[in-house]
Amino acid sequence: MLMTGEELERFRRQMLHEGFTEVSQARLRASTVLLAGVGGLGGAIGYALAGAGVGKLIIVHSGALTESNLNRQTLMADGGVGQPRAMLARRRLMEYSRFTRVEAHDIPITERALAPLLRDVDLVIDARHNFPERRALNRAALERGLPLLFAAMDGLEAQMALFIPGATGCLDCLYPEDPPDWEPFGFPVFGAVAHTIGAMAGMEAVKHLAGYGSPARGLVTMSLADYRTRIFPLRPAPDCPACARASHNILIKEHYNAGTITCHV
Ligand SMILES: [Zn+2]
Repeated sequence: MLMTGEELERFRRQMLHEGFTEVSQARLRASTVLLAGVGGLGGAIGYALAGAGVGKLIIVHSGALTESNLNRQTLMADGGVGQPRAMLARRRLMEYSRFTRVEAHDIPITERALAPLLRDVDLVIDARHNFPERRALNRAALERGLPLLFAAMDGLEAQMALFIPGATGCLDCLYPEDPPDWEPFGFPVFGAVAHTIGAMAGMEAVKHLAGYGSPARGLVTMSLADYRTRIFPLRPAPDCPACARASHNILIKEHYNAGTITCHV
């Protein structure tokens, strides 16, 4: 079904982009995204997706809001300290847009916990800060042949990659071992860095879901210290256990205007 009059007015400005049609917008409305993490980075992604008209968000994030979260986590607010962040994010996003349904789960991220949540999902977004949860997301997404959008920050450096099963390799292909200098907790972070990479990942998700433009062709890194941006090729690693385990499930879901995905610098 194409857009209602209300929807046409709400999303009119993005449909002014050449090639971004009512059909593109209808694809966003028909999409379901699992968003793992609604901190600084994931919060910016949540705003981007709800703002653009993605039909359903499934939020997964365990733990309650603390005072020290609030320098960057803009889905939260002063009065929410001590309350579960998944529920606070759901409430805020539903206030923001009546066009997006939001489901929230205040649970730790494991492959087992993710399995029932991924049934009708089109895209998995990794906005977590630790590698055990990132790897669980990667393996659960691979198991269902789903694309995984990885977004991360390390100090002033932002990273983003869109992993397409069967085409690009996966997170475990890129990082077979945990980067030793990435602190899982207590790492330094400015809100503006989290929001920058969150906005980039939000745009990448919208492009992917709507079938608009071309995908990020590799691991994108950007330093907010000097604004140097680089793109590193993504390749499947022949000995990746995560890819080997999931290979029977891998389907390539390709609907980009640009055609086949190839990675290059
Ligand atoms: Zn792999």
